Amino acid sequence: MYDFEIDRILGEIKRLDARRVLLQFPDGLKSFSLSLIDELQSRVDGVDFLVHVDPCYGGCDVALDEAKRLNVDLVVHFGHTQFIRGDVGVNVLYIPAFSDLPVDRAVHSAINLLRRYSVVGVLSTVQHVHKLGEVCRLLEEAGFRVVVGGRCGRSLFDGQILGCDVCSALSIVDEVDVFLVVAGGDFHALGVALSTGKPVIVADPYRGEARDISRLVKRTLSLRWASIMKARDAQVFGVIVGVKPGQVRVDVALRVKDLILSCGRKCYLFAGREISPEAFYPFIDRVDVFVVVACPRIVIDDAHRFRKPIITVGELKIALNVSRGDYTSTLPLLHGEEDEGSS
Ligand code: SF4
Repeated sequence: MYDFEIDRILGEIKRLDARRVLLQFPDGLKSFSLSLIDELQSRVDGVDFLVHVDPCYGGCDVALDEAKRLNVDLVVHFGHTQFIRGDVGVNVLYIPAFSDLPVDRAVHSAINLLRRYSVVGVLSTVQHVHKLGEVCRLLEEAGFRVVVGGRCGRSLFDGQILGCDVCSALSIVDEVDVFLVVAGGDFHALGVALSTGKPVIVADPYRGEARDISRLVKRTLSLRWASIMKARDAQVFGVIVGVKPGQVRVDVALRVKDLILSCGRKCYLFAGREISPEAFYPFIDRVDVFVVVACPRIVIDDAHRFRKPIITVGELKIALNVSRGDYTSTLPLLHGEEDEGSS
């Protein structure tokens, strides 16, 4: 079902003469880990493979600290492309885990939902990005003009999007009427819709179906605006810095703190790895609104789980009247100009 590129992993083990290897998977791929180890061990001797069991949601979260403590020679990070730039002090091999699921049923289903548009922007998660040529051909045969998003931001491939980086969509936003996102679930498509303001259709290869996410977008926007409105009147803010390797943006958090103080409000700084509601229970009586300077999708997707409003940096700027009130303007900030502090 997925291409784990075993030859490439073995080649890297051989090149590094690695003896201890840490395998890191997002939750959806963990069930393949033991079969993969069986296959690797049948082809190489003298190597210990460890499966990293903690949650992993993105390429921002490579287990670098764990790798150093475990003294491994190589981390193989599955399901994502390289996110953290520069020398990280550990050998990391990224295996995107391309899916072999067919896309034709999902795209044919999407064609019915795309009928009222002429120009379609085509995007995908990394698992299906190698199928975008086929997606384009099917759409063109159905009479659409097709534009594939560019390779930019943290995308390694044309048309690739991440939950927090839809640069590929933004590169073609003025050319298209609608976006077609090839992905399982609505997570990535929602990021595209919120960041571009354009209609988005999901072609889901796992279900072999397509869906219009406009109701989800409307519901999400109404929740986001409710939180922004609460932040307008808030007096005490908590600014949360992530400590996962690709989420460390202390400089941004300090600038956010200065902004809050300059508006006559109070601010506390927090740092954490898992930004969960439970982690912030001890503070909710003292803090009116939390600003997340970590994974921005915690705000977009999990806000309903928190007992106090949580907002992104872009949303804070709207609340404090330092940026225009257009919601799409908040999201390029996810990992755009606010990103200088990333490691
Ligand atoms: S910051 Fe969030 S959305 Fe971006 S890669 Fe990490 S987990 Fe995914």
